[in-house]
Amino acid sequence: MIKRILKNVFRKSARIKTVGNAQVIPFKLHGVAREQISYGSQKVTDGLQAAGFQAYVVGGAVRDLLLGRIPKDFDVATNATPEEIRSVFRRSRIIGRRFRLVHVMFGEEVVEVSTFRSLIESEDAQTDEHGRLLRDNQFGDQEQDAARRDFTANALYYDPATQDIIDYHGGYSDTRKHLLRMIGDPKVRFREDPVRMLRAVRLSAKLAIRLDEATAAPIATMKDLLDNVPQARLLDEVLKMLLSGHSVECIQQLRKMNLHHGLLPLLDVILEQPMGEKFVMLALRSTDERLSQDKPVSPAFLFAALLWHEVLAAWKLRLQQGERPVGAMHAAMDDVLARQKKQLAIPHRHDAVMKEIWLMQQRFMQRSGQRPYRLLEQPRFRAGFDFLLLRSASGEVDDELGLWWDEFQDASAERQAEMLHPEGAGEKKRRRRKPRKKKEVAADSGASNESTDQGTDIRAVD
Ligand code: ATP
Ligand code: MG
Repeated sequence: MIKRILKNVFRKSARIKTVGNAQVIPFKLHGVAREQISYGSQKVTDGLQAAGFQAYVVGGAVRDLLLGRIPKDFDVATNATPEEIRSVFRRSRIIGRRFRLVHVMFGEEVVEVSTFRSLIESEDAQTDEHGRLLRDNQFGDQEQDAARRDFTANALYYDPATQDIIDYHGGYSDTRKHLLRMIGDPKVRFREDPVRMLRAVRLSAKLAIRLDEATAAPIATMKDLLDNVPQARLLDEVLKMLLSGHSVECIQQLRKMNLHHGLLPLLDVILEQPMGEKFVMLALRSTDERLSQDKPVSPAFLFAALLWHEVLAAWKLRLQQGERPVGAMHAAMDDVLARQKKQLAIPHRHDAVMKEIWLMQQRFMQRSGQRPYRLLEQPRFRAGFDFLLLRSASGEVDDELGLWWDEFQDASAERQAEMLHPEGAGEKKRRRRKPRKKKEVAADSGASNESTDQGTDIRAVD
């Protein structure tokens, strides 16, 4: 008897309820416990609810927890306005102009809190001539907020107080089926924001979930709309892909869907050269591996890898035209960076590191005299060496060179001296260095710099 009552109670609470247009999925079914969400997001939802507002964890975090993954951050959505959120949390600040969000700080953790937004009715929607939404910042209720999110899996609201999930678009069952599906008409949603095409690729690759057929279908005919997206946003999304820990899958998927053209313009060319493709794929694989081991990765290293074969091609061309190696390398780097910047806004702040890594590659060839010791002292020697190993793994340089440097950097002083190559043996004889004039030192590093010897000087650009 007691068993039967308990069974009934259990069954009742383990059922999906319908409330208005939403389905409410209880903890007993979905299994995501309050303890699985971050301390900060618990504090934020508790604080807002205690002040009389609605507050839920939403977006990628709920999706990731349902898929058994650890979310990288927790976003909260609420019906409180940014000012009201500010008044509840002392350590918070309003950010963003187009979308006003609030960052609430708890020690190291920053919780991003957004006010429910509404879908703009089509008559007064501000769009460009291609249908891209330019303004999207009206406050609304939870149901409206859900409708303006991209995928059903991204529109689930988790209430840490009741441990219920609120679902307006079937995202719970899609997620359970490992399906990424666009909310609404995919064509309309891609037109509103073409970046959603890239998000579809990134999220399905990263989460290893299937992209719904109806969602994927229009991408082939709509990809040109990406030309219309501001550069900074495209770069942001490309970086998210490259640093997702699943960059290889992302690139493969982009190529399969023919979305890579125009996105990373030089990558188009590089991926079509067998040596370049091998090198880029190795670089991406090693980045994915580092991320899976929680090691830091540098965007500058990745950009340097993506553009390397382009730099090499430009360099070789200049050498054939009779330019000297170091000067030709400086000019080749500048050419490639300028060309790439026209199309994809790689921020200037990465230039200096990219150039350092590229310039070091010539210096690895020099294994006599004092030069190897000077190279070891470079603050970015490690990055340059990792880059050399990628070149050797891709077959561009002999393995022996990488092995030599691997041994040399940790060898005893005695062994190092033994390892040095004799001056002039297969390497260019070191030219006598003229004393450098003050003027040259002050010159911009972008200019070709023939006056220094092979141990090229590198100065930061910005
Ligand atoms: P990630 O794990 O990469 O952070 P995410 O889905 O959380 O994935 P965010 O960029 O952090 O991605 O966005 C948070 C949420 O905001 C998304 O889950 C989605 O609900 C909504 N969102 C983000 N970008 C868009 C977009 N372009 N169109 C509609 N909704 C979006
Ligand atoms: Mg997120």
